[in-house]
Amino acid sequence: MILCAWHETPAQDRAVLEKNILNALDDLYTALRPHLEADIRQARADNYTAPAPETFSDTPEPHGTGLPLFGWRLIHPVSPASVWDDMLDVALWNSSIVLDDWLDEYAHIDEVSIDGFIDLLRRHGIPAVLCAGCEKPITSRHPRWPGIWTTPSDEYGGPACPGPGTGPHPPAPLIGWYTDSDFGAPHQPR
Ligand SMILES: [Zn+2]
Repeated sequence: MILCAWHETPAQDRAVLEKNILNALDDLYTALRPHLEADIRQARADNYTAPAPETFSDTPEPHGTGLPLFGWRLIHPVSPASVWDDMLDVALWNSSIVLDDWLDEYAHIDEVSIDGFIDLLRRHGIPAVLCAGCEKPITSRHPRWPGIWTTPSDEYGGPACPGPGTGPHPPAPLIGWYTDSDFGAPHQPR
């Protein structure tokens, strides 16, 4: 979703977008934090309090998407006696589990739902767009597909929409040399 928003934003506005993304990440962690703390307190039977990480962005990977790396981090003082466990904060570690919620265990957190996350991004001026058909993030400003709504981010990405996953798809064929299934249907912003 962030990658699509990056494409949607003209180059001269990306410094502002970067700040907006960091602010949105701040808000997202603020929303997750009480849930993370509650889980850890229950598991450890103590009064654990999660530290507040700072958001950061870093140089894009050399052969990656061109998108800066975004994340949360805690800075620790280190000494020769420091060990890995001194640096490990379980709430920050678990935040990735909450965001990658394939068991829907955290679906009750508004900001983790797709609509809640979209609202969070838009509140921060981040141009997040989902497809009405497949609900994937889409952009119409991908450099290889300008003006075409496309999903740039995974191996099934591209201009053809896989549809909502229910009902007949692709739709009934129309008359043509090639069949509709050769092309599918385009993504549409919802
Ligand atoms: Zn789609």
